[in-house]
Amino acid sequence: MTNHVRPLVVGNWKMNLDFVEAVHLGQQIGVILKNRPAEHTDVVIAPPFVDLRSVASIIASERMLIALGAQHVNAQENGAHTGEVSLSMLRRLNVDWVLVGHSERRTNYSMSDELVKLTLRTVATSGMKAVLCVGEESGVREEGRHLDFVAEQLRHAIEGLDEKSRSAVTVAYEPLWAIGSGTSATVEQIAEMTSHVKAILRSESMAESRVLYGGSVTADNATSIITDGGVDGFLVGGASLKAESFVAIVHACNGCYAGKR
Ligand code: PEP
Repeated sequence: MTNHVRPLVVGNWKMNLDFVEAVHLGQQIGVILKNRPAEHTDVVIAPPFVDLRSVASIIASERMLIALGAQHVNAQENGAHTGEVSLSMLRRLNVDWVLVGHSERRTNYSMSDELVKLTLRTVATSGMKAVLCVGEESGVREEGRHLDFVAEQLRHAIEGLDEKSRSAVTVAYEPLWAIGSGTSATVEQIAEMTSHVKAILRSESMAESRVLYGGSVTADNATSIITDGGVDGFLVGGASLKAESFVAIVHACNGCYAGKR
């Protein structure tokens, strides 16, 4: 099956790579993409905060067609928030994208649905683009509540956002049990959730928003998921830490895009 929405692949480097290693990986990705461009696919890399400035310089000096993302942002503009980073700080570093509500933030750092909503509003009303992460734990799926659970997470996060800000939101479905586990959700599970999320987005005047899948995506399973899972791209963790596997995922998406000439 071909895809009519321009795909997006986001690499989430998590808490990996110091700034020297990050520059190296950024350069490697840039070289491979220069030799074999993926002109029908949008590519974003999201390094740790401390690497952003170095990676931004490499992207600019090498004129790479890659956008810069951050893994998190504080919902406030400034003030007494030790250890946190604000949106204007990110903007000065040419960051265009921010991950909002990644499950590791929700689970390990107590990011509530309410805080996800506030953070999404901060990003989406600023002119920057947000990747809103949603997804259920295994127990929720075992109880058959995964569709309702994700719908609730999504509706809560976008509640009150105006139409223009909604257009800045991409949704990433990331079942917690698939993240970093080495076993992705099945294509059928991904297709079911993607069509559910897209139906909600249509009913919320967000029909243009892309829906990504994340959770143990690799160079080996990317083609079948993008072909039959109904997704518009991927949020990639582990496989984004090696240039070859990350770019192979980008090319899998690129090859599926039906709008190409
Ligand atoms: C993620 O953390 O967003 C992710 C999808 O990780 P992985 O690809 O390693 O499962």
